[in-house]
Amino acid sequence: MEPLPAATIAALTPPDVERRFYDDRLEPIPFDEPTDLVAISVETYTARRAYQIASEYRRRRVPVVMGGFHAALCPDEVARYADAVVIGEAEELFPRMLDDWRHGRGSHVYRAESRPRSLRVAPDRSIFRGKRYLPIRLVETARGCRFACEFCAITAVFTATQVRAPIERVLTEVRALKRPGQLFFFIDDNIVSDLAGAKELFRALAGEGIRWVGQASSTVACDEECLALMRACGCQGLLIGFESLGAEQLGQMNKGWNLARGGPSAAMATLRRHGIRVYGTFIFGYDHDDAAAFARSVNFARDEGMFIAAFNHLTPFPGTPLYTRLEAEGRLRFPAWWLDPAYRYGMVPFIPRGMPVEELEQRCSAARRAFYGWDSIFARAQARVNRHDPWMLLNFLAINAMHRADVVGRNHLPLGDAAWTGELLRVS
Ligand code: SF4
Repeated sequence: MEPLPAATIAALTPPDVERRFYDDRLEPIPFDEPTDLVAISVETYTARRAYQIASEYRRRRVPVVMGGFHAALCPDEVARYADAVVIGEAEELFPRMLDDWRHGRGSHVYRAESRPRSLRVAPDRSIFRGKRYLPIRLVETARGCRFACEFCAITAVFTATQVRAPIERVLTEVRALKRPGQLFFFIDDNIVSDLAGAKELFRALAGEGIRWVGQASSTVACDEECLALMRACGCQGLLIGFESLGAEQLGQMNKGWNLARGGPSAAMATLRRHGIRVYGTFIFGYDHDDAAAFARSVNFARDEGMFIAAFNHLTPFPGTPLYTRLEAEGRLRFPAWWLDPAYRYGMVPFIPRGMPVEELEQRCSAARRAFYGWDSIFARAQARVNRHDPWMLLNFLAINAMHRADVVGRNHLPLGDAAWTGELLRVS
């Protein structure tokens, strides 16, 4: 998918600064192309690769600035590999950093004092031209989430707050991007974090004739008016973090509100009644999880007719309360798993209480295999919510077949480019 934050950076770059955008997932990076400054967005999973890229440029004496989620979660670490680190949201900091560096007074650390009041900057998507992304258009109407789930890196970075985009800006973007049959993905971390603001947006979108998907907390199922408004403005489905069906697990992750008003079953029934498809996510490895937890979640996801679902082990992201707790309990197998050469995708980086590490890894894969078995796919295809629209039924079959073929995903692959040789260059 198009990396929308890069388009926001492009929009924040003054017109008299020539810029080039390379997506490391899609194309080789021309390290020898002359440039005055390189900006890299760093996620925890891509940190190792980002430092490899930074080392290539810094070896050629090109200064490197890094920002993004991982810079906010691990500023000291990122600062070791970058000439400048931007800690916080780009809207406030990127123009200042760029101005400093182009006028020869660049600093090493740029830290935001607060969050922006509003997401006013419209992304400049012209940087995506000629690149092969999925034909889904991404739009951000709000950033952050008011909840404080223990494992969540998003809420750790945005301190359980949400900032919204002006509705007029969202409408302008949607109108510029919409085409017949176009599907939109509102990438908001939790599109219903601020219910009143969300309803205002859905009312404004009602006449646009678009189809969209998004991400929401299960609390949306407690508000029939909100669901009706979402459906009326083209909502096709929502990613919802159910995480666990156990009260102890949800309590420990600070997500006990998932059990409100009848809990997950009642939420699913309400969502189905409003014709909203669900991509449910589940995590395993909390202290009360045992072998039975996997079958319980898989059966629930299948019986409730989820469109798709994810079954993953818990991952302690740095900067989260979960990471701090596991570290204090001496349960981190790989303290900096994102940089550890021995760590691979799919490995459990901590010591679970309820079962051995290997069993947790295997049971997550087995849960995916069961959910994407043909019997489960055909059973879920029978749910009216998944089959009543022929276009979405086709999508259902295609996406489920794709997941079925890719149950192990990137498991066992190293983080970063394993073929890269050299030293990660540190700032002296
Ligand atoms: S509801 Fe979702 S986005 Fe919000 S804190 Fe919990 S996991 Fe994070």
